[in-house]
Amino acid sequence: MTVISNGLANSEPVEFDSRSYVRVAVPIPLRAEFDFVWNPELGNAVVGGRVQVPFGRRTLVGVVTEVDISTEVPKNKIKQVIARLDALSVFAPALWNSLRWASSYYQAPPGEMLLAALPKLLRDGKATKLQGELWYTAKELGSSKVLQRAPKQVLVHAFLLEQGTVGANAAILDAHVQGWRPALRELVKKQLISSESRAIEIPVNTALLEHIELNESQRIAAKTIAEAGQSYCSFMLHGTTGSGKTEVYFDAMDQVLARNQQVLLLVPEIGLTPQLMERVSNRFLCPVVMLHSGLSDRARHLAWAQINHSTARIVVGTRSAVFAPARTLGLIVVDEEHDASFKQQDGVRYNARDFAIYLARQWDVPIILGSATPSLESLSNAKQGRYQYLSLKQRAGGSALPSVEIIDLRKSPVESGISRQMLTAVSDRLARGEQSLLYLNRRGYARVIYCNSCSEGAKCHRCDAYLTLHKSRQQVRCHHCGYQGVFSPACSTCGESGLSSIGEGTQQLEQVLKERFPDATVMRIDRDSAGSESKLIEMLDSVQSGAVDIILGTQMLSKGHDFPNVTLVGVLNADQGLFSTDFRGAEHLFQQLVQVAGRAGRRQVVGQVLIQTAVPDNPFFQFVAAHDFESFSELLLSERKLLRYPPYEQAVLFRAESNFPGDGLNFLQSMRTWLKQRIGERAIRVYDPVPSPMERRAGRYRAQLLLLGADRKYICRLVGDCCAVLEADRFSRKVRWSVDVDPVDTY
Ligand code: ADP
Ligand code: ZN
Repeated sequence: MTVISNGLANSEPVEFDSRSYVRVAVPIPLRAEFDFVWNPELGNAVVGGRVQVPFGRRTLVGVVTEVDISTEVPKNKIKQVIARLDALSVFAPALWNSLRWASSYYQAPPGEMLLAALPKLLRDGKATKLQGELWYTAKELGSSKVLQRAPKQVLVHAFLLEQGTVGANAAILDAHVQGWRPALRELVKKQLISSESRAIEIPVNTALLEHIELNESQRIAAKTIAEAGQSYCSFMLHGTTGSGKTEVYFDAMDQVLARNQQVLLLVPEIGLTPQLMERVSNRFLCPVVMLHSGLSDRARHLAWAQINHSTARIVVGTRSAVFAPARTLGLIVVDEEHDASFKQQDGVRYNARDFAIYLARQWDVPIILGSATPSLESLSNAKQGRYQYLSLKQRAGGSALPSVEIIDLRKSPVESGISRQMLTAVSDRLARGEQSLLYLNRRGYARVIYCNSCSEGAKCHRCDAYLTLHKSRQQVRCHHCGYQGVFSPACSTCGESGLSSIGEGTQQLEQVLKERFPDATVMRIDRDSAGSESKLIEMLDSVQSGAVDIILGTQMLSKGHDFPNVTLVGVLNADQGLFSTDFRGAEHLFQQLVQVAGRAGRRQVVGQVLIQTAVPDNPFFQFVAAHDFESFSELLLSERKLLRYPPYEQAVLFRAESNFPGDGLNFLQSMRTWLKQRIGERAIRVYDPVPSPMERRAGRYRAQLLLLGADRKYICRLVGDCCAVLEADRFSRKVRWSVDVDPVDTY
């Protein structure tokens, strides 16, 4: 017999004979889901809907993953769902499938994976529907003179009257009448102003710029994409920097938008979104929204809702925008697909590019991956016919690729990290009124502070890393753990007060350049000087307007920006990446150099790229000088094949962190024993655990273990089982461990 609680009989224990159960994923770092009793008074349970559940002493917002299940949890232990937050799934089916796949592929806790796809306000349990915003309209005063002694009220009233029946919202009032709120409140009381709630609209540009005529190779690429139809197909659009890839994306977007579908356009950096946003909104007559980490919680929620209701037709965003809740998706574009920032490096370690490919398959829509320097993964996929390869070989504006020359640092006199040859080239540009961009992948005044007496460098007391001196603030910083301290000239090793600095950072170079070229405007752009997004945009604007002669910057500058008047790009320290312990070091360096070189001479004048190196004979530089990415990647691919590294085999990196040296290594060692036993004779390599390249970081000891193998399905199961064992194991709680599937760097 079934007794259903009617909410009145709370004195007697209610007996449920046939209750219905649901499975819920909650945001905790465990690879498990939990069963709850469904209370039918809440309405129907839906897969993909959010619920509130009791968890330990807390109440958590989770997502229902299965309904009408049978449970093995004892009847007296199982708890009841507290509240149903959604009557419908908050995930479109294709997104849902992709998220479920990603949590198993990346070994991410299911609750963390699902909730990572929602904006914070929804993770906190807020409603998906947005309240509208208030718009105010004014009534005529008539003959009465009620406002005589309230000048502000007169002002607000007059302004609103001018706006007629449309009225104004807070944003408009903010822009026109300072301190309008109290006056408005009074006017509402006097019934001279009325308010109504209207849906928040996305402003749409009405003045469109002219379309650019596609050139021959762009037309071929665009035609191939169009002819492939509306079903799933992956395109690898390999185009030199400035070859007009973006115009090809736009052409494909035109057709999708004409069918009233939505487009998702992913870019690697926040700094790139505003530029692209502007280009997009000048090109399309439809609502566009931006999604990136710089948005406020409210703005994110708003954007989410606008995409979810299909009000927004184009979504431009960074990594996590791949989770945008599109309901009518027609196309995905991933620009700069090789970029490492598509890989989330902590928490749920997914790769947004790979997620996007899976998502496109689920939606059964085309996806375009664009890059001037495709990742080896994508190139090999293209070679095997999994992606359709399209290439744009010429620069769209007709300008030639810049000439690349190598400066031998051993032969050229160097002053504060800049060779004489480089300085001469800069002064040539100044004389011609052209811009120079000097690239240095380093921050701060000097990288290393060393002691003249004992020759020891100043190290972070928490890490195995050297400190960086930031001269303007007389501050030392560790760029690995974030430690900041006051610079003191006394050596911590020998006590002498003779610390000097070597290795030039951007700030020191800025000084050298200013002294050397006193009449030139020098601008330094790095994470220190461009602290906020608006600051960065401002700086980029002044570069574009030609107000700056010499731009000095870091990696931030190498991506996607278009600087028409830059004709010289100088690379000051290329050698670091080349000898990196990471097997992707050279690949990443090449990509960076091509990207930064691509900033030169994008218009009529032919650009020049000068690269300083202490190892000019390294074949790497011959490929760079010849712009020969194809041969270079062939070489890298053949090396990877020989070593059976990705993309030929899959890599999984386990990391462990502990407070005491050795704990992490021991932990990984016993894990290795477990893995080896399970693997038996299978062709899977499990390396010995090693201390991480930087063993100490933020006071903790780090170790890692690399696993490689070709059988992805088996590896997925193996690693999943391993994680389950670790989660159940007591010892594993002494160390903080994580697993990184398809790691982009092996630090
Ligand atoms: P990419 O995305 O490959 O770096 P962009 O699409 O940004 O290249 O194009 C580089 C520059 O060339 C832009 O200023 C763009 O306006 C211009 N451009 C692109 N296609 C054409 C074309 N067919 N004709 C003339 N200019 C073009
Ligand atoms: Zn540190």
